[in-house]
Amino acid sequence: MINAPARDLNIVPFVSVDHMMKIVLSIGVEPFISGLAAYLEDDFKRWELFDKTPRVASHSTQGVIELMPTSDGEVYGFKYVNGHPKNMNQGLQTVTAFGVLSDVACGYPVLMSEMTILTALRTAATSALVAKYLAPKNSKCMTLIGNGAQSEFQALGFKAILGIDKLRLFDIDPAATDKLARNLEGKGFDIVRCSTPQDAVEGADIITTCTADKQCATILTDNMVGPGVHINAVGGDCPGKTELHKDILLRSDIFVEYTPQTRIEGEIQQLPGDHGVTEMWQIMRGEATGRTNERQITLFDSVGFAVEDFSALRYVRDQLESTGQYQNLDMLADPDDPRDLFGMVMRAAAA
Ligand code: NAD
Repeated sequence: MINAPARDLNIVPFVSVDHMMKIVLSIGVEPFISGLAAYLEDDFKRWELFDKTPRVASHSTQGVIELMPTSDGEVYGFKYVNGHPKNMNQGLQTVTAFGVLSDVACGYPVLMSEMTILTALRTAATSALVAKYLAPKNSKCMTLIGNGAQSEFQALGFKAILGIDKLRLFDIDPAATDKLARNLEGKGFDIVRCSTPQDAVEGADIITTCTADKQCATILTDNMVGPGVHINAVGGDCPGKTELHKDILLRSDIFVEYTPQTRIEGEIQQLPGDHGVTEMWQIMRGEATGRTNERQITLFDSVGFAVEDFSALRYVRDQLESTGQYQNLDMLADPDDPRDLFGMVMRAAAA
């Protein structure tokens, strides 16, 4: 059985958006991302223990709603997440999420948490952790194309884990770049605002694309990607939603989270189903090679996989006792006699 705060089995600790913000602020964004990256690395290294399946997606013309389940045999977790690129025009988030961890031994939930903020943190932690293995040594300068909700977290994650201190920013909406530059003021970055994507990639060691558009977009064309660069492609994460020109993929060594899901959702949906890719757990366990030379283009075709959300929830659960940032939810019925659920309802009526 899992030990967690308030381990009355019928009471489930719930981390609201307000709690999550307080946890993040009390730990600090960069230490939070680094701490979470350590949990991710642990879980990638015990990859074979996890139940793995491509996420279950319900697509509509407006977006997608997905469920992302996994289990390591002791703990089960899932995330509910949506992706609606046009939401922003109505003042809504493109991505919102919540998630649950449960005890496999009895099936009872042990944590319920907001995951909109947590997804941004875990995506940044995953991107930066992967780049630690693949990016050129001593990378300092990162291009960030797509300056929306994920972008500050990406920047701070790469600063915390790789020491990135120069950013070159581009977004089709200058207001997004204004917001990103403002939010990162005084956070230790030398920031250059660029007027075209071509200008933005100039001199970068790492290129992060994090745009939202429900189409096969071409954020990067082949001529924009020089030898030796690491590409962190975050925004293409749905069927029919990609960011890179196919020719870039053909010049790159491609690294993924979980191949069956990435073939459906990632940049590699543009390639034949047998095109060779390497899963990141193989690199982290030293069972495959990542970057082997200075001219190699490495591409992390990120889509976001259930194990990463599991790691994130596990990390948050481990912060509850020290931060006290949760409330107990009366979420599970607990009749005195487990078979007398009806009687419990009737006694409540009488009371
Ligand atoms: P967001 O809507 O807040 O921001 C997206 C930004 O992209 C906006 O500022 C928009 O103006 C900009 N943009 C759109 N088209 C562009 C273009 N052609 N060139 C430059 N900028 C462009 O979205 P977000 O929450 O930051 O998410 C960004 C993307 O990342 C989404 O597609 C989302 O689905 C994806 N995502 C992936 C993961 C993962 O694990 N891989 C996790 C979270 C989000």
